[in-house]
Amino acid sequence: MPVHRQSLTKSPDKIDAVAPAKHIVPVSDLFRVNEQIVACNLCTRLREHCTTVAAVRRRAYREQEYWGKPVPSFGDPEARIMIVGLAPGAHGSNRTGRPFTGDGSGDFLYPVLHRAGLASQPGAVSRDDGMQLHDTWITSVVRCAPPGNRPLPDEIARCAPFLDAEIAACHRLRVFVCLGKIGFDGVVAHLLRTGQIPRRGPLVFGHGVEYAIPGGRWLLASYHPSLQNTNTGRLTAPMMLEVFRRARQLAQGK
Ligand code: SF4
Repeated sequence: MPVHRQSLTKSPDKIDAVAPAKHIVPVSDLFRVNEQIVACNLCTRLREHCTTVAAVRRRAYREQEYWGKPVPSFGDPEARIMIVGLAPGAHGSNRTGRPFTGDGSGDFLYPVLHRAGLASQPGAVSRDDGMQLHDTWITSVVRCAPPGNRPLPDEIARCAPFLDAEIAACHRLRVFVCLGKIGFDGVVAHLLRTGQIPRRGPLVFGHGVEYAIPGGRWLLASYHPSLQNTNTGRLTAPMMLEVFRRARQLAQGK
């Protein structure tokens, strides 16, 4: 597994600087950010797609009421580990209203988190299944399910202030674990946008990469647990478990 250790320290006074979001008020609480996420309606294409999917529904879920709104983040507000994914799945999070819940990606991710000691149970099926995360917060670069799982660049940019606000509100944050290149690029864009790094430099996505970033934080990455990756064996549970075990070590300052 490739591991790249890079120090990207810039002046310390820039570490906590976060560009003010244009469409949300400054907040210091992760749950208030979640309230703003759920109420957001800025991306017409994505909102129409989510509501259409929620109205039509997949045959297997025809009796269920889909969430159909932007999906709020989930986890421990005192988390030192932030998992950054891509976007909700149309019949997963867009149905259940919780990240990685109710689809194949979540069926792969949560058992790994459970084995790593970061989730209270391996199964994630609904918002009220009793799942609790330990020291972990799950977010994504886009909060509305995109057609074909492919958000457009302007949609990612429009949603980015929520990520900025979450990172600012996550006071104990020490480790990012990015699932997939788009999640990784979203965190790198945050570091650039907030002046924490002057350029992208050596920050290149890859499974198992590990970078020291300003503020005493770490940037880790894994392949995304999409069915395309897990069904083909490109990403296995032991591969992902190793990333989360390393994240725990780094979060604990080891
Ligand atoms: S993707 Fe983000 S910015 Fe766009 S409508 Fe959803 S929550 Fe709002």
